[in-house]
Amino acid sequence: MKLIRVGEPGKEKPGVLLRDGTRVDVSHVVSDYDERFFGDGGLDALRQWLDGKESTAPRASSSMRLGPPVCRPSKIICIGVNYRDHAAESGAEVPREPVVFMKATSSLVGPNDPVVIPKNAKKLDWEVELAVVIGKRAAYITTEQALEFVAGYALHNDYSERSFQFERGGQWVKGKSADTFAPIGPFLATRDEVPNPGCLGMWLKVNNEFRQNSNTTKMIFDVPTVVSYVSEFMTLLPGDVISTGTPAGVGLGTHPPQYLKPGDVVDLSIEGLGASQQKVVAWKE
Ligand code: ZN
Repeated sequence: MKLIRVGEPGKEKPGVLLRDGTRVDVSHVVSDYDERFFGDGGLDALRQWLDGKESTAPRASSSMRLGPPVCRPSKIICIGVNYRDHAAESGAEVPREPVVFMKATSSLVGPNDPVVIPKNAKKLDWEVELAVVIGKRAAYITTEQALEFVAGYALHNDYSERSFQFERGGQWVKGKSADTFAPIGPFLATRDEVPNPGCLGMWLKVNNEFRQNSNTTKMIFDVPTVVSYVSEFMTLLPGDVISTGTPAGVGLGTHPPQYLKPGDVVDLSIEGLGASQQKVVAWKE
């Protein structure tokens, strides 16, 4: 199944995207795609409800805004420097253990919402990433068990303000957490739709020029390793998001570095997870 949320910011209703692109409104059977939904077996219940009702179920407008495909989670966790070529372009060492940092959950927005350059920002950068959505409470799980704890996958652009990230001291969280810095979607593809998250083509374009073009095969730490690893340090709750890192081709890695400016258009996609587009806009009081 492909889960979507449709409507104005903060008022999105849950839906399912059918194979032919039809949007089914499921708001009368599901309150939202949140911790309770994933944790209480909501995916199975929804699948059963939908079975055989695809042609008669109520439709959602195909022109309405898509919100993020999950309700605001308890955590957005990110894995840093998880592709060798990105480590090289950033001048970072290949890590011996996964680099883990957080992104404020208030940065979550719809897949095609504009990205706002934060106040006093100078170096807004892009990062196409595979995001993993957790399906059940996970603490101290093994690599072998890890995929059973995954609800599904989504496309994510881990927007980053490099001057906040690297030039203002302290942790990366400052450069990762501004409003609009986590466009996720267009949909959450449930785990059964993505049999091998370790082999998915991915790309990102700025103003229609390829900047990133890679594959999740190039991850240093694969999805099961990352999910198991993070669960050693914190309990993952249903609906939590783990973003698994970006390949080479970010603005920071070009010579000289190139950052986004108002009017730029960023397009990105991951195989099986659809595409998204963000227009870059200036910050306003
Ligand atoms: Zn990232």
